[in-house]
Amino acid sequence: MHPTNRSAMNTDYQQIINQIAQEVAPLTHQGAVADYIPALAAVKPGRFAMAVKLADGREFTTGEALAPFSIQSISKLLTLTLFIQKQGLELGDRVGVEPSGNPFNSLVQLEYEGGKPRNPFINAGALVVTDGVMSHYGDAKSLILQTARKLSSNPALDYDQAVAASEKQTGFRNAALANFMKSYGNILNPVEEVLDTYFHQCSLAMSCTDLARMFFFLANEGVDQRGEVVTSPRETKRINALMMTCGTYDAVGDFAFRVGIPAKSGVGGGIVAVIPRQMSIAVWSPTLNQQGNSVAGSRALDLFTTYTRCSVF
Ligand code: GLN
Repeated sequence: MHPTNRSAMNTDYQQIINQIAQEVAPLTHQGAVADYIPALAAVKPGRFAMAVKLADGREFTTGEALAPFSIQSISKLLTLTLFIQKQGLELGDRVGVEPSGNPFNSLVQLEYEGGKPRNPFINAGALVVTDGVMSHYGDAKSLILQTARKLSSNPALDYDQAVAASEKQTGFRNAALANFMKSYGNILNPVEEVLDTYFHQCSLAMSCTDLARMFFFLANEGVDQRGEVVTSPRETKRINALMMTCGTYDAVGDFAFRVGIPAKSGVGGGIVAVIPRQMSIAVWSPTLNQQGNSVAGSRALDLFTTYTRCSVF
């Protein structure tokens, strides 16, 4: 039987996420931690956390929901928000809005397509967005940190300087992408400074609780948990659409097939997901699949949308 009336009020979210934590426990050792950034290679597998924040303000957590981890590419959602706040609805002719079908750090497509990245969530696109934030705001590094602190209501948040330095030492591909785009005139600030800002935003250390709070505005038509407008409903719709079509890289079709909600992943093992007008969700487990998405985190979201019947489909 498939009952048709489901009410957020009556759903026992705590019981559901506790059960999910148990079910995905064996998966927290599947896959591998991201070791191309040496500081991330040291993170122990076998860990799991999940946080849910409902539109009515209630929060539910399970596992290590206060443990900070490296948010990595989830930071691209924050810089895209800052960019859209200045740039408006159209991203302009510097970055596209189509899925790439390629790994997040691929160089191939970029040459075919004249130095214009497919979307703002692959590394090339995120570098253009960070460059745009630098041009619009000046001191982007401190703005990104201040915005993260404000949106998550956690003044203690900080960059993890060891992770930023570690990525800087080994970030040859990102340097290649940025230099390549500079040759097409699609990076306006000095490459070194853009990379430095990008490596810092990726190094932000945050917990699932912080992340569910920070990106609550995307589940709430642009209004953050303190009641302040971050993005208009139309801008919010577009950011969520980009997450749906580009947020999990070349696994985005599989992710929609299994999970069915907009989401943004990072190689620290975190995933932020949004069910528009209902809730923001954050999961974390450090071991990744081939495409760089958390194995247990992806499965947890699959189970969550299955058990709550809350996917957009
Ligand atoms: N800092 C990472 C990189 O540039 C972010 C990638 C990711 O999280 N997918 O490679």
